[in-house]
Amino acid sequence: MWLNRIKIFLLDLFFPKKCLECGQADTYLCPACFNKIEILLNNECFFCGKITWQGKICLECKKESYLDRVISATNYGSPLIRELIKAFKYHFVKELAISLSQLIIKTIEANWSLDIACPPARQGFWDFLIVPVPLCKAKLRSRGFNQAELLTKEISNYFNIPTETNIIKRKFPGMPQANIKDTEKRKKNIKRAFEISEPEKIRDKIIILTDDVITTGATLIEVAKILKQNSAKEVWAITVAKG
Ligand SMILES: [Zn+2]
Ligand SMILES: [Zn+2]
Repeated sequence: MWLNRIKIFLLDLFFPKKCLECGQADTYLCPACFNKIEILLNNECFFCGKITWQGKICLECKKESYLDRVISATNYGSPLIRELIKAFKYHFVKELAISLSQLIIKTIEANWSLDIACPPARQGFWDFLIVPVPLCKAKLRSRGFNQAELLTKEISNYFNIPTETNIIKRKFPGMPQANIKDTEKRKKNIKRAFEISEPEKIRDKIIILTDDVITTGATLIEVAKILKQNSAKEVWAITVAKG
């Protein structure tokens, strides 16, 4: 308990609780500023920009990326979004998981028509599984939580999609992807970094991978690849931001 209180005290000292956009007290993102955040349409292939719909990856890019959809709520280029994600990840403001996952939920609902909506509405989410991109152990120890897992829990609760947080394992740490600028080096760094612990749980499922930001997609591609090798039907990536 006292440890928790010290944590809150230190957080308040170094990171006072006020809206990161307008400065309103007692919240890191007030409802008015939340509502002003523009949600992306996701009407293009994430990798090549070809016009598609609802985040679908075009046929050519699908072959190399193993991803069927990439849906992002916002652009990482927006200063507010960058501040929110930094506060969440590096200043350990865990409660931002709620606002950030609400951005994802809003985006899924905006895309919630035709082919995404119909199967779940009829059948429930029985063939979906929502899974966070795993952090390596060292990072998990230093940060104390996996930001993707917190987002996953909120989205899973909201839509009632089953979740598994431990089926994808990170085998070795590698360099943090954020420290590598070059796309090819990022791919190399993350190659064969993951393994699946219970493959029967993903067989014939549509796997929704969640993460805070997608940059080049190298990590998500590597996870999607191993999921497909283990008979996942489709792999989607859903993130708070892209860029
Ligand atoms: Zn505000
Ligand atoms: Zn494409």
